Amino acid sequence: MTIFEKIIAKEIPAKLAYEDDEVIAIHDINPQAPVHVLVIPKRVIPRIGQAQATDAPLLGRLLLTASKIAADLGLADSGYRVVINHGRNGGETVPHLHVHVLGGRRMSWPPG
Ligand code: 5GP
Repeated sequence: MTIFEKIIAKEIPAKLAYEDDEVIAIHDINPQAPVHVLVIPKRVIPRIGQAQATDAPLLGRLLLTASKIAADLGLADSGYRVVINHGRNGGETVPHLHVHVLGGRRMSWPPG
């Protein structure tokens, strides 16, 4: 069980930003920006590269939820970044697909 499954099961506490039947969003424990939220599907997909065509509705829901949370947290005008890390070079550390929403500061490009 990954840390995110334990958070979804409420076995480990997290600061909730949003929850519905398919998705949970929590504030990152180690924020990289003033706002740093993780949007996580309750059904485990290990990483984006393992998503299947049948996962398309859930993937769409993750992105729409990321956009809604960004707006709810006041980031729509100032802007924000949406990130998915896949594998070692991508910086993935938790093998349960999640979308990072980062905002509240100016992001640099290219990313580090
Ligand atoms: P990844 O590196 O896999 O893209 O992102 C994993 C994220 O999960 C990291 O930003 C890390 O700080 C966050 N994280 C890891 N463990 C916990 C936890 O127990 N609670 C919360 N809220 N975030 C966590």
